[in-house]
Amino acid sequence: MSVVYNRVALIGLGLIASSMFWAIRRANAKDPLVGEVTGFARTEATRATARRIGLCDKVCDSAAQAVEGADLVVLCVPVGAMGAVMEEIAPHLKKGATVTDVGSVKKSVIETVTPLLPEGVDFVPGHPLAGTEHSGPESGFATLFDNRWCLLITDDADTPTSPAELRLGEFWQALGANVDVMTADHHDLVLAVTSHTPHLIAYTMVGVADDLRRVTDSEVVKYSAAGFRDFTRIAASDPTMWRDVFLTNKDATLEILGRFTEELFSLQRAIRTGDGDLLFDYFTRTRAIRRGIVEAGQDTDAPDFGRGSSRS
Ligand code: NAP
Repeated sequence: MSVVYNRVALIGLGLIASSMFWAIRRANAKDPLVGEVTGFARTEATRATARRIGLCDKVCDSAAQAVEGADLVVLCVPVGAMGAVMEEIAPHLKKGATVTDVGSVKKSVIETVTPLLPEGVDFVPGHPLAGTEHSGPESGFATLFDNRWCLLITDDADTPTSPAELRLGEFWQALGANVDVMTADHHDLVLAVTSHTPHLIAYTMVGVADDLRRVTDSEVVKYSAAGFRDFTRIAASDPTMWRDVFLTNKDATLEILGRFTEELFSLQRAIRTGDGDLLFDYFTRTRAIRRGIVEAGQDTDAPDFGRGSSRS
């Protein structure tokens, strides 16, 4: 493969950006993919850490400097910060550049970023479905995107046709991801089911246990079983990122939460009335979904007991 982008700018240097950089470096070692990677983070502390660990070929002191001459600019900040960052970099973008983002919500990012785009710059929204509960410049690793999906957002879900989309897809594939396309509305609904609502449930369950802990002293922590430990791992995710996800994917999350509550009530009734058949059939159906995920290569069936991999 020949170089796909001469210069890539990573704006925001947390888990996703640092993983992208290490994955670019890994790809470059096999076959040149990117000429140079510049980076910027808003705080001096993060920039200093990035310089110390060798994250990016050049860490810049301003976002404007980082995007200067970049062929690809990747917005790797929380969803609620995308607009302010875009406003800052817009006058400094090169004609012919592509801007993309990795935000977990798509419709609101598109509505915020698109009006700020200068002429001659393409915007291809994206979302790598890979992450952990860790954040910051030191949390990234080169294999994060391996065999994970990266969704690119198009107006027409079936057609990743523009040169900018095709080039970005090629780039993500070189980072280890499988690329698919979706509309923004569909993305936000699917993610509300597979990621956003489960996170909300985990936050709630850990909150309930925390209240209980005050009653039962430390037993909730001491005897925590696999299910609860998995919840605590998810509930340790970055508060800023997840606050922004719920504020910006409000409609889809509320829709799925409504359906979730209805199901919970039906299981609650089955427990109260002793309807074992309903519970058994329900759990049999959900077990098949887990098998499907393992068969699709998106997780392993190795026993974990809540202590193993930190992938989310
Ligand atoms: P992260 O590790 O917390 O890093 C966030 C970066 O954004 C940091 O460099 C931070 O700068 C910067 N930042 C935070 N608030 C900002 C603001 N108001 N203005 C400018 N910069 C700001 O986050 P991440 O996990 O990499 O997530 C980045 C994006 O990827 C988010 O949009 C998230 O939705 C998406 N995403 C996350 C995951 C996941 O599992 N974590 C998965 C897929 C997609 P400082 O360090 O200087 O404060």
